Amino acid sequence: MNSFMKTAIDEALKGVRAEHGGPFGAVIVKGHSVISKAHNEVLKNNDPTDHAEMIAIREAAKKLGRFDLSDCELYSSCEPCPMCFAAIHWAKIKKVYYGCTREDAASIGFDDNYIYDVIKGNTDEKRVELIQIDRQDSLESFKEWEAKNNKVQY
Ligand SMILES: [Zn+2]
Repeated sequence: MNSFMKTAIDEALKGVRAEHGGPFGAVIVKGHSVISKAHNEVLKNNDPTDHAEMIAIREAAKKLGRFDLSDCELYSSCEPCPMCFAAIHWAKIKKVYYGCTREDAASIGFDDNYIYDVIKGNTDEKRVELIQIDRQDSLESFKEWEAKNNKVQY
């Protein structure tokens, strides 16, 4: 099997056995080197965003000293949830290899598929209300950003 995927699976098992969180592991690779590896730590840190991919992205960015990971690839023991999939886009990672599917995750109680359905407009079930208020006041920071001469676009 793929050695980077093996590392991701080993991370997932490590997390389960240590009771850090769900059975998910991720590895970020640049060329032939592992830059970071992580497992889900939602339970350990009481942080709902501490998914394996999120931690691996944060650590890789810190290690490389940049937010652009476009020269890296990600290996995940499971298909990324929508939050991690979005983070992968923000990190500009171009290729993701995954083992288990979102349907496999749903079958053990991790219903990422529901969030994908919400995004695609495929469900009438709304668990979150999204309400727009105070747009004009909120636009103030946008105007200041736009006027900035030395902004770093990302
Ligand atoms: Zn995730």
